[in-house]
Amino acid sequence: MRLVRTYQEMEALADEALRSGKRIGFVPTMGYLHAGHASLMDLARPDCDLLVVSVYVNPLQFGPSEDLTRYPRDPEGDARLCEAHGADVLFMPADLYPDGFATHVSVPELSSTLCGASRPGHFDGVATVCARLFGLTRADFAVMGEKDFQQVAVLRRMTEDLGLRTRIVPAPLIRDTDGVALSSRNTYLSEDERRRAATLHRALFAMRDAAERGTTDVASLLELGRAALDCDRLDYLEIVDAASLRAIDVLGDRPARALGAAIYGRTRLIDNIAIGAS
Ligand code: AMP
Repeated sequence: MRLVRTYQEMEALADEALRSGKRIGFVPTMGYLHAGHASLMDLARPDCDLLVVSVYVNPLQFGPSEDLTRYPRDPEGDARLCEAHGADVLFMPADLYPDGFATHVSVPELSSTLCGASRPGHFDGVATVCARLFGLTRADFAVMGEKDFQQVAVLRRMTEDLGLRTRIVPAPLIRDTDGVALSSRNTYLSEDERRRAATLHRALFAMRDAAERGTTDVASLLELGRAALDCDRLDYLEIVDAASLRAIDVLGDRPARALGAAIYGRTRLIDNIAIGAS
């Protein structure tokens, strides 16, 4: 595995790979890697000749009162995990943006609800860094976890709208043994917070089970979900159309998604699940 520290080297390496006809797969991350990230690499590996994993904590996607400065880091552990899961290139730059960088990418229609409502500017930061990373790596496809369901929707729209060569490949959400969605931020949780964090997925599963038993009224499903939750603050719990991300009142034939974001102590966690027709 080659460790790449500058974007100039990344571009040169990607150009060389393209010239020799290699198919480039890409997994962008913010590091402190876990089995959820590894699953993305495992999905990408058989479908590419060059697997690039990036580790970059992107300041553009953090709000002023968010956890940018304390975001967990473990470069050595990340390198070991990437190597073990077949990465050819670990792109770990100190800086990603050239002097005078002045471009911002925004997909407002999909960015203002759910996580975007409480994290203004977050998805603009995500879209901007991914547009840059997709450009630098010349990736044919990028595997992105459905743990960040809204992010997948935003980036799909962006790549289609801009005609980028990089296709978005969604990957299933990976959970820990207690059902909590794996997340680098789980390391912030105290024992009590971790125990209560398990109520987030339980709320979503309770809603899904009720839908399977025939409840289609979204208000009733959300009431059930809220009753199952034990958090310090609920940011949102919603059921939306899986494609448009617009809130719906009744489950119908179209795929829908139940999503939640909840705060435990100082930690904000997200989770989501398919609900109703699949
Ligand atoms: P992050 O490092 O949190 O920015 O995540 C990098 C990529 O890993 C994103 O595509 C995430 O959706 C994905 N990811 C993070 N946690 C999980 C998980 N538990 N299951 C699947 N994918 C995940």
